[in-house]
Amino acid sequence: MADTKYIFVTGGVVSSLGKGIIAASLGKLLQARGYKVTIQKFDPYINIDPGTLNPYEHGECYVTVDGHEADLDLGHYERFLNVQTTRANNITTGRIYQSVINKERKGDYLGKTVQVVPHITDEIKRNVKLLGNKYKFDFVITEIGGTVGDIESLPFIESVRQLKWELGKNCICVHLTYVPYIAAAKEYKTKPTQHSVKQLQELGIQPDVLVLRTEHELSSNILSKVALFCNVAQDAVIQSIDVPTIYEVPLVLQRQKMDEVILRKVGLEVGPTPEMKPWHQFLQRKVDATETVKIGLVGKYVELQDAYKSIDESLLQAAIYNDRKLDLHLFHSEKLNDGNAAELLKDMDGILIAPGFGQRGIEGKFAALKYARENDVPCLGICLGMQCMVIEFARDVMGLTEANSTEMEPNTPYKVIDLMEEQKNVTNMGGSMRLGAYDCTLKKGSKAYEAYGQAHIQERHRHRFEFNSEYRDQFEAAGMMCVGENPESNLVEVVEIPALKWFVGVQFHPEYNSTVVNPNPLFVSFVKAAVENKK
Ligand code: GLN
Repeated sequence: MADTKYIFVTGGVVSSLGKGIIAASLGKLLQARGYKVTIQKFDPYINIDPGTLNPYEHGECYVTVDGHEADLDLGHYERFLNVQTTRANNITTGRIYQSVINKERKGDYLGKTVQVVPHITDEIKRNVKLLGNKYKFDFVITEIGGTVGDIESLPFIESVRQLKWELGKNCICVHLTYVPYIAAAKEYKTKPTQHSVKQLQELGIQPDVLVLRTEHELSSNILSKVALFCNVAQDAVIQSIDVPTIYEVPLVLQRQKMDEVILRKVGLEVGPTPEMKPWHQFLQRKVDATETVKIGLVGKYVELQDAYKSIDESLLQAAIYNDRKLDLHLFHSEKLNDGNAAELLKDMDGILIAPGFGQRGIEGKFAALKYARENDVPCLGICLGMQCMVIEFARDVMGLTEANSTEMEPNTPYKVIDLMEEQKNVTNMGGSMRLGAYDCTLKKGSKAYEAYGQAHIQERHRHRFEFNSEYRDQFEAAGMMCVGENPESNLVEVVEIPALKWFVGVQFHPEYNSTVVNPNPLFVSFVKAAVENKK
């Protein structure tokens, strides 16, 4: 294919409409037609990346293979496209300004006054095109975070306007809005959509395609009205109705021929509609599953919808591949203790101990772990969850009652989890953890080895603390084995208790590496153990 095509996805009316899912779904439809597609997210905030934001601010922090702490929408892009993203797929205002300011300090602007237009907008445009130029993608889909009209997204919108002018047919804008239903009037209201499109037009952008988010089916009258008042072709007004799972969205868009509309607009031949067999099979298995598997997720952010996004999606995928409906129960770690854990967790077929930072809620994680260990309930500990597994075992089985992580208690006499050597001189908080994909060698015969079906794996990381190898022999003598380690540093990556049915802790984050067509083997194995436990 000749030129890279650029598709921008903007949003209006309200936030949280799911631009990321729309971008990922559209990407999926184009990919299914044989095109090479990538998706990137531009976030208008000033943080360099979301790594320093807490989950209350910004939901889960996703991690790419090359160690970038990224927006959680990159997780959707990977889960839908089954293609890895990198730091180039997530840009913030902070990074744009940092790069422009660095160039200014080097003297690259040759004495010019450095301004939002053209210097910031040029830097945005350079970043939009980076992936297309470097990796020769057929389609680069760029999601612009925030809502049109926000002060902070203006430079991004201006860059889209310029790119549309420069690239002509090779650049289009998909605008996502919301059509509310006013129950008292028994009517759907298109005015917010009209206003939001007007706002885009005032900024010089005529959207090419509109996607209307709605809770119920919209009539063709409403769609025609939107087309007329928003100056958009009738077939380019698409509705995106609420569906039971986000993985149905590509099919909802395909039924309305959104991909065909876009191909025609960018001047590409339409060709036959792809069957998307693996996708349909996945959804069919979900529908066909009648029995459930009950998984308890223990963490301190369970009340937040997006805090454990990748874990939720990995569990859902693993349940479907085990032909089970996922029945996910959330347990706030601050509310669990030795007195109530057995009662609260008694119906769980499997228990997952979430990652995290800091002391809050840690005692509840120990209580859940003690319950799982003593009652032989399949249990997966991820990152801090694995570290808690180690501490709980040291305290309760090895008799080291004051064992701890130096993250929680720097003066503990038994530092079974300790700061990594390379972290000791770190002062900057941003991007300074052990991040991204590292090798891990698994011991033959272990549960982890069985799950992956091979000894050499790679998973992604995000941590500063590690299992203290000085205690390795003591743990193994007491029955907790170190069955996975990094081949270069010998850092312990996986622990498990072979005497139990399935009790595995991993320092890495398998949830960042689970997609619809390629579910993560450790999650599949964990859920399988939970299903067997139920029997
Ligand atoms: N707080 C722990 C560490 O930094 C675990 C981090 C995590 O769970 N992602 O090592």
